Amino acid sequence: MRLRALAKINLGLDVVRKREDGYHELRMIMQTINMYDQLEMEISEEAGIHITTNLPFVPTNENNLVYKAAKLLMDEFHVEQGLCVNLQKFIPVAAGMAGGSSDAAAAMIGVNRLFQLGLSVKELMERGVKVGADVPYCLLRGTALAEGIGEKLRALPACPDCYVLIGKPGISVSTKFVYENLHANELKEHPPIDRMLEAIQWHNLNKLADLMGNVLETVTIPRYPVIEEIKNHMKEHGALNAMMSGSGPTVFGLFDDRQMAEYACEALRESRLAKTVFLTTVFNNGGRRK
Ligand code: ATP
Repeated sequence: MRLRALAKINLGLDVVRKREDGYHELRMIMQTINMYDQLEMEISEEAGIHITTNLPFVPTNENNLVYKAAKLLMDEFHVEQGLCVNLQKFIPVAAGMAGGSSDAAAAMIGVNRLFQLGLSVKELMERGVKVGADVPYCLLRGTALAEGIGEKLRALPACPDCYVLIGKPGISVSTKFVYENLHANELKEHPPIDRMLEAIQWHNLNKLADLMGNVLETVTIPRYPVIEEIKNHMKEHGALNAMMSGSGPTVFGLFDDRQMAEYACEALRESRLAKTVFLTTVFNNGGRRK
């Protein structure tokens, strides 16, 4: 069985407050894009879960989210056969694009089908949150509002079709570092998430792009100015707007014109500001997985 695990970007990311238990309460507008990892899954007569991958630094043991997701379901349903998974990674790792969470979501879909467990997407989502806060969203896909720690989801009308230019600089940003250095309860400005929801409702791409905001940039940009440089590069080359996704360091730019997007993509490659440069589109399926 072959499955695609699609990446996400955050069109908006707000941290409402830091809770007493240390978790941050978020409000995020999530958008699936047509950039994906590929999973090949098959039943094996040998018990256990065996993972292979094209990236040497991605774990293939129980630390891989694919392993955790498959094991969760296989244990609950007492599956005695084994599972082999070949994971081809194309989504940048530790980049704010939910690559690992999306792989986990695809693994749950695959295990459910291969072993005929009969679970609905909703039932998979209830279980997925135990693997990671973004896993339920990766099962839902499309455009959605995520609240709480990211697990409270509301499907939204589809984001207007557009081109998405991805630029990931060759640096690693620790999510832990970002949240530890965010003084959530002292933030002066918050992205206008509610107005963004209206722009989505009205199908207004220009308005939506204008309103985009990510509070985590207040931590990452002063520390890693290349993020700002990539944003500026995209805007100077015709992006409606550009922003960091998640806790970074990936930057994305939205374009309504294909030629302009291709031109900006080429220029970004030549600039060498970003290590990974990829041009794609938003993915909308009304929340249903094909
Ligand atoms: P998010 O947007 O949810 O913050 P991310 O892009 O920051 O996700 P991932 O690419 O999902 O982060 O991976 C973060 C870490 O998780 C990696 O450093 C890696 O060691 C580990 N990991 C576990 N499973 C996977 C997987 N299937 N793919 C990539 N990384 C994985």
